[in-house]
Order: sequence, then structure tokens, then C-alpha cells
Amino acid sequence: MANRVTNRPAPVRSLLADGRELLYFFDAGSHLAQEPSPADTRELPPRPATPEMRYDALLDEWVSYATHRQSRTHLPPAAECPLCPSAPGRATEIPATGYDVAVFENRFPAFGPGAAEGQPAHDAGRSAPAAGRCEVISFSADHSASLSGLGRERVRSVIRAWTQRTAELSRVPGVEQVFIFENRGAEIGVTLHHPHGQIYAYPYITPRTQKQLESAARHREAAGGDLFADLLANETADGRRVLTRGRYWTAYVPFAARMPIEVHVVPHRTVPDLPSLTDAEREELSGVYLDLLRRIDALYPTPTPYIAAWYQAPLDHPARGGYRLHLQLTSPRRAEDKLKYLAGSEAAMGAFIGDIIPEQSAQRLRSVLPPFDPDSGLDGAGGQERGV
Ligand SMILES: [Zn+2]
Repeated sequence: MANRVTNRPAPVRSLLADGRELLYFFDAGSHLAQEPSPADTRELPPRPATPEMRYDALLDEWVSYATHRQSRTHLPPAAECPLCPSAPGRATEIPATGYDVAVFENRFPAFGPGAAEGQPAHDAGRSAPAAGRCEVISFSADHSASLSGLGRERVRSVIRAWTQRTAELSRVPGVEQVFIFENRGAEIGVTLHHPHGQIYAYPYITPRTQKQLESAARHREAAGGDLFADLLANETADGRRVLTRGRYWTAYVPFAARMPIEVHVVPHRTVPDLPSLTDAEREELSGVYLDLLRRIDALYPTPTPYIAAWYQAPLDHPARGGYRLHLQLTSPRRAEDKLKYLAGSEAAMGAFIGDIIPEQSAQRLRSVLPPFDPDSGLDGAGGQERGV
């Protein structure tokens, strides 16, 4: 890691009954950091075999078949939630009776548990093990919490966990890209209500990232500039879609947003991934990100489903150094009781028809809460911190 975050307890590692890794991360000053980590008392079946992936030569993309996921836990009642802490007579995926943030290998992974041996050739009819790794990150021991309500210190711990996992998974042989994301809301296919996110270590560069790299290369050739820097400069100069501008980060609705709610959070310098951020950048991010989540939650009386997706540079690509880390938060919610579905044009052709003009969406997100001030000290969420 480029920067060591000081005065925070180090993560504690343990193993689950079937050999999967589990890590606990702690908030600053957490009493839980001093407690011993209990053993997993369950008897678990052996881990599933690494799924197969097949090459789609028509689209030049890989498709992973994780058929064992059909039997995974689907919206269990709170009393059977696998992410709640263990209690006497009820052992969950997390043996501890309390925790701040826990990360563990997914029992039903779409990639892994086998490690990849380099990228397989892109040939029609080619299949390969879907190697890599899938992890689950639980943001809280509280089943009914939401990341936006957990406070700034917890968001710091989550960012620290994301950073540590990215750094460690980036060193796994055959991993080409580390993807950190949160799906929230049953409307978009979440199978567990407990507040959590996921981490995928892919054995290839994802199609979206590949396309961004190609766009950046084309822009450099045509205009001689850095596409990521130029887009940020355009948004800043225009200003109508900017939600927050800090010292190190800007959050904005992009000029050509596809989804009814879409916000990009972009660092002010070219930085490939979370481990490459400075402590000051991570600190401001904890405030900017929390502010964004609170704006999303303030839009409607009921929780808005969203996907928060971290785009990080591929690990072994000549343009890695010019790629810029960024977050894309999207939601299909276009009104209190209406969702946007990807229909014929979007699903079949990838040709998006938007429902809401991006300037209007930005105006709405700006108006639901007072402006965020990145200079308002350590608990920089200002007055919004109170009452949470
Ligand atoms: Zn739970």
C-alpha cells in the first residue's frame, strides 16, 4: 500500500470451517479490536469447484457459469441471516458475537476459489476455469442498518477495508482487475438485506473497463489529452451537474448519464486505484461518499435501490498508469413508485434512452440536503452527522 493509515487497529484474520478466509476491520478506538477471534464451529461441506467461463467470440467477452449459486441463500429472514454475528445456538458466516466490518470469501463465488494461470486465449469455442476470488464485505453487525446511517468513522473503516482488499487481491496471480461494489435493494436483485457489499477479483479485464481504455486511447490520439482529466474539467467548468467539489474529489451527474439517478465521484488527479490514494484523499472521500449516500436516501421516504461501483485500473495493462479510479453510483428509480427497466433498445442493442435530463437529476440531488463542506473538519458531514 502506498500510504499506511496510522492509529487504526490492524485487521484480524481467521479461517472459516471450510477454509475460507475471514478478516475483521475495526473502527478507531473500537473495543472489539482487543477481543479474541472465535473459531467457526459449523460443519460445512467442501467448497464448490471453480466455475467454468466461456468466450463469446461475437462480443469478445467472457461469460462465467456459477451454477452452484442457484442454491445460495435468498432473502432469508433476519433470524437466519448469514451476515449477522453468531449467537449461542446460531452460528453464522461470522463466528464473532460482534464486529465493526467483516470481509470473507463468498461461499457461492462466481469466480474462484481456484487461482488463474494467466489469461486464456480469446478463441471461439474456448472455455476456461472462472478463476479469481469473490468476497463479501459486511458494513455492520446491525442487520437493519444502512451504510449511509453508520456515520463517518464506519465509512472510513469500510474504505480502509476496500483499500486493503484491493492491494492484497491485486497480488493474487492471474487476477486482472479488482472490482468493489455495493448492490442495495431487492429491486435490483440483492439476496441479503444485511448492509453489505462485494469484491470481485476477475481473471480478465471487464468489458466496461476495456471500452473506457479504448475511448481514452482514441481521445489521446485525436485530441492529445487525458480523457479522464478533460471530462472532469468540462463538468467543473459547466457546473450545472456538480453536486460536491472538494479539495481532492468532485461528485457530479455526468453529461450523458444513462440512469435516472447516476453520479460519478472522481479524484482530481490521475490515480489508478484505491491503494494509490493518499491518506488525505481517503479522508475526504469518506465525507464525500457519505454525503452522496445521504442525498440518495433523502430523495424518497423509502430506501432507493442503487449500485455503487468502483472502477479501478486493470493490473497488467500498458495504459494502467493513465487510467483514473472513479465511483459510479446508479439507480433505476425514476419516481417514488417507478423503476427504469432495461428494455429492448438498452438490453438488446446497448442503446440507452434516458428518462430524466441529467441537469434536473443533479438539481434534485443538490436540493435535498445542504451543501457538503469538505473543509468542515474531521466529522465533515456537518450538521447532517447529528441525529444519525
Ligand atoms: Zn443480518
